[in-house]
Amino acid sequence: MAEELSKQYNPKETEEKWYKTWEDNNLFGAKISSEKKPYCIVIPPPNVTGILHMGHALNNTIQDILIRYHRMRGFNSLWMPGTDHAGIATQNVVERSLAKEGLKRQDLGVDKFIAKIWEWKERNGSTIITQLKKLGASCDWSRTRFTMDAAYSESVAEAFIWLYKKKLIYQGYYIINWCPRCQTALSDEEASHVELEGNLYYLKYPLKNNPNEFISVATTRPETMLGDTAVAVNPKDPRYKEYIGKTLILPLLNREIKVIADSMVDMEFGTGAVKVTPAHDPNDYRMGKKHNLEFINVMAPDGKMNSLAGKFSGLDRFKAREAVLEELKTIGLLEKIQEHKLSVGHCYRCRTIVEPYLSKQWFVKMRPLARPAIKVVKKGKIKFYPQRWTKVYLNWMENIQDWCISRQIWWGHRIPVYYCKNCQSKNPAKGIIVSKTKPEECPKCASTDIFQEKDVLDTWFSAGCGHLPHFTGQKKTPT
Ligand SMILES: [Zn+2]
Ligand SMILES: [Zn+2]
Repeated sequence: MAEELSKQYNPKETEEKWYKTWEDNNLFGAKISSEKKPYCIVIPPPNVTGILHMGHALNNTIQDILIRYHRMRGFNSLWMPGTDHAGIATQNVVERSLAKEGLKRQDLGVDKFIAKIWEWKERNGSTIITQLKKLGASCDWSRTRFTMDAAYSESVAEAFIWLYKKKLIYQGYYIINWCPRCQTALSDEEASHVELEGNLYYLKYPLKNNPNEFISVATTRPETMLGDTAVAVNPKDPRYKEYIGKTLILPLLNREIKVIADSMVDMEFGTGAVKVTPAHDPNDYRMGKKHNLEFINVMAPDGKMNSLAGKFSGLDRFKAREAVLEELKTIGLLEKIQEHKLSVGHCYRCRTIVEPYLSKQWFVKMRPLARPAIKVVKKGKIKFYPQRWTKVYLNWMENIQDWCISRQIWWGHRIPVYYCKNCQSKNPAKGIIVSKTKPEECPKCASTDIFQEKDVLDTWFSAGCGHLPHFTGQKKTPT
């Protein structure tokens, strides 16, 4: 008697059987061939810490369809898989498991901590690959890469050096998103903005020559007033014309600051006069550069106020906010408090409120890179569906800021930059040696007192390199 067909489809039986058959017969393997036309897709490497989500299911299905379609048409098709070391994400996972034993990464030191992460990766890093197989993804698994592999790391360093030589990478001081808990810089994309119910605080700054006269400024972060180095008004604002150029006394610290005129000031916001804190706000930073103001950073990397914050030093930023307000209230310089909705950046890994923070970092110049990406869309070579996204895309590309690529974490590709102590002692900006390996001596002064940059690269920088065939070290892959 014929076996009856099961009434229900059993994916477990079917999918496992067929995936095994495909793998056993090496149906996804690609060999270099001069007869067949090549067709290759590099997978956007999923995070090694991750599990697949709906977004992966969608984009991997599309890639699989393209690969299988071309394979059936006789192309030499390769779907190149890999996983991403996922800098902060992985570091946080391992930090959390250490915390259960009452340990911090600093207790272990860099080398032991990195060894712990590798251990974690060996134990858990294959989850996402197993899941991709469950989806039926037809990758050539024999070629699987990990972004921290030696050959891949070398390619990342090569890409950095190539961009540096083209003057597309530079080091500089700028306001970046800083996570006081992770104690690292974050890119704009890594600081997720959340709408919060906050307050707008109106602070009164007395005039030096007439302490009974004030200019009021509105702020959402009153503790940063300790770093104010000017008050700005719009030159067209009739309310403040006579004050331009006059001196104010910054309360609590009794610092003299000037009233400056700048057309960037929005006359409609708050009182129309704004405090300028060049070391703690990106717009104020630009204003500070333009008007040659002093940059006073009043916060330590852990989010506590530093010695420049006077008697508030040592207080956590939010405690300092309360203390500053309390004191201003006591001396009659807190005019009023208004409820105010505001959008606040949060660290995408630990949800701590990020701080716009002035620090020395490495950046990629984005304008020259965005130009061709704008051109192809404007010329219609690349089209958006639905079309309305064209505007969103162009708006993004045309206003793009330089990308902060350095991270103050331990897990990742160390930046391939060395410093010569001798050259630096003469000129702090000098003494940079860009090199894949540690140079024996400084090419300028022959000193051997050389140390490597401590910062590592943003994960997105190295994951992005995977898409530049020139830098993926493919020459080193056998077969
Ligand atoms: Zn964080
Ligand atoms: Zn030197």
